[in-house]
Amino acid sequence: MSLHQGSSQEPEADDELRGLALNPFFGQANPVGGMTAAPPRHVLPDGPLPPATAYQLVRDELMLDGNARLNLATFVTTWMEPQAGVLMAECRDKNMIDKDEYPRTAELERRCVAMLADLWHAPDRDAAVGCSTTGSSEACMLAGMALKRRWAKRNADRYPSREARPNLVMGVNVQVCWDKFCTFWEVEARQVPMEGDRYHLDPQAAAELCDENTIGVVAVLGSTYDGSYEPVAELCAALDALQQRTGLDIPVHVDGASGAMVAPFLDPDLEWDFRLPRVASINTSGHKYGLVYPGVGWALWRSAEELPEELVFRVNYLGGEMPTFALNFSRPGAQVVAQYYTFLRLGREGYRAVQQASRDVARGLAERIEALGDFRLLTHGDQLPVFAFTTAPDVTAYDVFDVSRRLRERGWLVPAYTFPAHREDLSVLRVVCRNGFSADLAGLLLSDLRRLLPELRAQPGPAAPGPAKATAFHH
Ligand SMILES: *Cc1c(COP(=O)(O)O)cnc(C)c1O
Repeated sequence: MSLHQGSSQEPEADDELRGLALNPFFGQANPVGGMTAAPPRHVLPDGPLPPATAYQLVRDELMLDGNARLNLATFVTTWMEPQAGVLMAECRDKNMIDKDEYPRTAELERRCVAMLADLWHAPDRDAAVGCSTTGSSEACMLAGMALKRRWAKRNADRYPSREARPNLVMGVNVQVCWDKFCTFWEVEARQVPMEGDRYHLDPQAAAELCDENTIGVVAVLGSTYDGSYEPVAELCAALDALQQRTGLDIPVHVDGASGAMVAPFLDPDLEWDFRLPRVASINTSGHKYGLVYPGVGWALWRSAEELPEELVFRVNYLGGEMPTFALNFSRPGAQVVAQYYTFLRLGREGYRAVQQASRDVARGLAERIEALGDFRLLTHGDQLPVFAFTTAPDVTAYDVFDVSRRLRERGWLVPAYTFPAHREDLSVLRVVCRNGFSADLAGLLLSDLRRLLPELRAQPGPAAPGPAKATAFHH
């Protein structure tokens, strides 16, 4: 949630002082009856409004929000089939924490965890433990906490003390949730910078950052910057070598917010999951390539050994108790039900077909953008169905921020942003292809881009050069 301050950030101060504007048609029986009260915007109104009036006021204001399907910045699901919407509406009153009141919802959550344990090759499916969360961020907090607690128990003789400060090793390209984890839980973030054409973690460099205070290494499948998979197996091998050399046994957490629901279907031979003994835990966002509306995520541990018992709290369940691991207490049950529905509805074959369609769109669009001649691809959409591209070296009339801004005029949200250390010189555009972004829509985006190019090429130079013009948070 955004942290808001003050009564208004909107520039039209005069307008702000006025109450909300009512239309004669908003009055139900008597058109002028409803017009006497202009409800204030920033304090709770004194009295009630008829529901039809309140609905119309809120709805009108929301018309200026963007069209979610044209948002190519987000990884989050923006389309589900009508039956899923009905099911979610039917479940909107269910609270996930009330296991005793909604035991069937609790059972569907358990089945989802079991299906994911199987999908991610847990060596012992009955031993794997996991839970639903509000998204990958919460799942990463939980996984990070488990890593920290395990390290603290192994180092009980010297932690807490001034000398022993836990650290977590990761690439500089990690999603912001890992910076949050390190800040909230007082863990040092040790980040491997980008180097040349390497835009994600280098296994060797990661192993070199590890020491006796390293609680774990995070590998991202795949990176939000460019859609690439990090080399999880190579990372595990580098950590195996480190263990042989030094005795340090460092666990790996895989942040599979997107990729953990793509790779199992499209890259079944890629070993990134519990097949690698060093992988202790995995998270994914049910609301990204899990194909469910926000917000649901999943966290799984290889076995109870990877999840210290003292982090687990118990709630009532059918005369007994059920273990839970979560930051929130109350949470909607509808998303978990929708995840189960989607698993049941699609099965492996269905997921494979949906993700393959997204990858085909991504690869095709990337190729056609490259063929325009003005752009250079960083990635090709062949890992996550996501690709990043920048302007070709000889393009000086405009930059990626101009492209993003001009596409916005046509309704497309294509973010432009600058890379982190050591590639701050590089700014890119990124396109996330999701279920619902069809080859037809991709064709429309391409023709809009093609139509803009003559104007962009005729510019005397970039409109507002520099990274200050980043258009959207690249989540
Ligand atoms: C989106 C994302 C997150 C955060 O996930 P939410 O479900 O939005 O909380 C974390 N890590 C990666 C790699 C992501 O892509």
